[in-house]
Amino acid sequence: MTAVQRIYLDHNATTPVAPLVIDRMTAVLREDFGNPSSVHHFGQRAKAAMDEARSQIATLVGAEPAEIVFTSGGTESDNLAIRGAADVLEASGRKHLITTTIEHEAVLNTVKALARRGWTTTLLPVDQTGRVDPEALRSAITDDTAIVSIMHANNEIGTIQPVAALAAIAREHGVLVHTDAVQSAGKIPLNVKTLGVDLLSISGHKIYGPKGVGALWIRRGVRLAAVMTGGKHERNRRAGTENVAGIVGFGVAAGLAIPTLTADGNRLAALRDRLEQRVLREVPGTAVNGSGPRVPNTTNISFDRVEAESLLIALDLEGVAVSTGSACSSGTLEPSHVLKAMGLATHRTQNSIRFSLGASNTETDIDHVVQILPRVVEKLRSLTRAPMRA
Ligand code: PLP
Repeated sequence: MTAVQRIYLDHNATTPVAPLVIDRMTAVLREDFGNPSSVHHFGQRAKAAMDEARSQIATLVGAEPAEIVFTSGGTESDNLAIRGAADVLEASGRKHLITTTIEHEAVLNTVKALARRGWTTTLLPVDQTGRVDPEALRSAITDDTAIVSIMHANNEIGTIQPVAALAAIAREHGVLVHTDAVQSAGKIPLNVKTLGVDLLSISGHKIYGPKGVGALWIRRGVRLAAVMTGGKHERNRRAGTENVAGIVGFGVAAGLAIPTLTADGNRLAALRDRLEQRVLREVPGTAVNGSGPRVPNTTNISFDRVEAESLLIALDLEGVAVSTGSACSSGTLEPSHVLKAMGLATHRTQNSIRFSLGASNTETDIDHVVQILPRVVEKLRSLTRAPMRA
């Protein structure tokens, strides 16, 4: 029996860890085992390794190393940004937060938690392309608005929000701005100054680093209460002995991403466009969800008269790993909240597949996927008698 050729097209869920990251992490686990808070040689070695990572992460987002706080991942960074800011700002009496309907659950559920403790929350809609209208933000801001949290790139459809324009409006009203850049970091150039935000979340495992490590960039001067309380780690912003090997791996991954960001992005965009164009041409009843500026590696495609989970499983049997959208909601038949927010018909929110490309993917991979897709889709359609929907 020949082994199935495996093609991984789920890089927005997580990326493989880069070999250099593994090498450096292994060395740190072996040799730099000291506690970075310790004053002796062993502790200072671990601290130096962590400081280097802090610089690498800061460079990735155009910030100062002292503004980077390491966390356990994107989810914790989002929590620290929103809860930490809310704790400080609610003393002023302003308890209104604005976000969008298409955020990751890390933000949406944190916002719900604030609502339970008396905050008013506004979820801005998106248009058919998956984008927020800056004027809608302007209209939503009131004298009570304290925080705006709007993601940079969406995990399911890849659309990039006009964060700089949105942040400028928030700033006019003295409102703090957080952006979840977990899906844009390492895919497109990022600069906190150009974006004009106050807080920015990123995660290691989306950029070929390890899982369980992330960072929150906190603009110098922004006050934030710690969510994880304890010792004085991370300038009193996140207590707990640091995940030194993870942090170092995250730093190496950032260092690897920076010099090739544009070239890698162009290569992936060409592959993604090839996939999209060929699927639209060769598989009847397909449409792309989301348009306009998108991260280069992502496409989300509807397949009429096909149930997304069935297609995901059928493709997996053929060796192709894709996703029905957010990894957290896969395994359920819940329609995508992102596609729903874009106003797509219910059937389309349930028949869409996310293809997210990455470093290892080649033209051969894409051509293989396009070669098997028409047969797999046709087979699934033959099992259902529902009429074809345009
Ligand atoms: N925010 C976005 C946009 C994401 O895509 C993800 C992960 O899928 C997260 C936050 C959570 O990041 P982590 O898995 O590091 O907790």
